[in-house]
Amino acid sequence: MSAETDVLIVGGSVAAIRAAEAISRHAPAVRVTMVSDEPHLPYERPPLSKTALDGTLDLSALTYPSVAGLREHGVEFVTDTRVTSLDVESRTVSTTAGDITYGAAILATGCEPIFPPMFRQLPDVFVLRRFQDAVALRAAVADRRKSVAVIGAGFIGGEFAATLATVGRPVTIVDLATKPLGRFGDPVASEYAALHRDSGVTLVLGDAVTGVEDAEPGRVLRLASGATVPADVILLGIGVRPSTGWMENSGLTLDNGVVCDSTLRAADGVYAAGDVVTWPNGRFGATMRIEHWTNAAEQGRAAGINAANAVTGLAPIDCVTVPYFWSDQHGVRIQFSGFLRGDEEIIECPGPGGSLYLYAGGDTLHGVLAFERRAEFVKIRAMLRRETTVGAARDILSVGA
Ligand SMILES: Cc1cc2nc3c(=O)[nH]c(=O)nc-3n(C[C@H](O)[C@H](O)[C@H](O)COP(=O)(O)OP(=O)(O)OC[C@H]3O[C@@H](n4cnc5c(N)ncnc54)[C@H](O)[C@@H]3O)c2cc1C
Repeated sequence: MSAETDVLIVGGSVAAIRAAEAISRHAPAVRVTMVSDEPHLPYERPPLSKTALDGTLDLSALTYPSVAGLREHGVEFVTDTRVTSLDVESRTVSTTAGDITYGAAILATGCEPIFPPMFRQLPDVFVLRRFQDAVALRAAVADRRKSVAVIGAGFIGGEFAATLATVGRPVTIVDLATKPLGRFGDPVASEYAALHRDSGVTLVLGDAVTGVEDAEPGRVLRLASGATVPADVILLGIGVRPSTGWMENSGLTLDNGVVCDSTLRAADGVYAAGDVVTWPNGRFGATMRIEHWTNAAEQGRAAGINAANAVTGLAPIDCVTVPYFWSDQHGVRIQFSGFLRGDEEIIECPGPGGSLYLYAGGDTLHGVLAFERRAEFVKIRAMLRRETTVGAARDILSVGA
């Protein structure tokens, strides 16, 4: 590992790789070192919850195709090495393999799953964030006699439950909320719940897990209502938090992630990208932190250009994005784009093949969510790059708007 570099990237996932790609294109002479605590080269996470159980998770197929070219170009990939602290003044990080000084740094340490203490000492309880998590979880459910419970009806839990249901495995999702994906409004919550129930998933909503008990046979979750749920294997899908613990003495502002300006700058010579970032997004005039792949990729590119510019003396660019995510469950693609304040009017737009919802703030379109309406969704998503009206979005819908 080099003790000195031009741009140091901390993290080894999508934001990190997009940053390295941007630097190699934008400023090929700039030296880049990427340090990740994972034992693997950067790989795609989304397939970890979606790959069919009778298929295989192939790490080499998941590894970003650009890694080989970046290596040839001279990017140094340091794996299995944790960055433990950052000194902004001396532009130095400490790692488990020694110190590195940098010209500019990009912090792309993402998020880590929440793992409440009540589950920590128990066998066969999993989170799903890293490749090894997925390998261990899939090994645990390989025995078809084992019951599976998912705690949390969000995307990770929903996707893994769908993966099980697709091969006919019984699975129960338990969620404290009465409305899954409730932030997208009642009609979306109802449709999401129906999608799972119609596909064979048992959904227990509005009930809290109070304990885990041995039963005959196997193990169960005890719920606040007194009900029990078979749970030989448990997947915790109850959310993530920004991986900022290692930055605590750095002097950076940490508040729901690393607080950055519109150029993703956190301090002199320090940029950040991906799930770990809170920043003012000029497109929506709002400060936000996003936990989705596309945002991490877009921010990685912007932070890469800005870190290279900091080294070469050029001006930074603003990072302006339109948040987007997709999720694949039971053969249905769920997509959202936009930014919701929570007080929008929800307009249901029935149409062929699936459903589509527009989120209106007066005449202004704030967002769009679709269940398997890919072609129309793509068009409305593109319109959201600029402020647009609800009427303009309705005009492109084929039926029923
Ligand atoms: C199973 C799964 C499925 C998903 N599916 C979708 C999907 O369908 N659609 C969608 O939009 N989004 C999806 N996401 C979310 C998406 O993958 C994340 O938004 C994205 O990975 C965020 O990228 P990131 O680079 O910011 O951070 P992360 O992916 O969290 O990566 C952070 C990296 O930093 C490393 N790191 C952390 N701390 C340190 C340290 N101190 N020192 C060194 N290295 C460190 C980590 O090991 C990791 O390599 C999914 C996520 C998961 C886990």
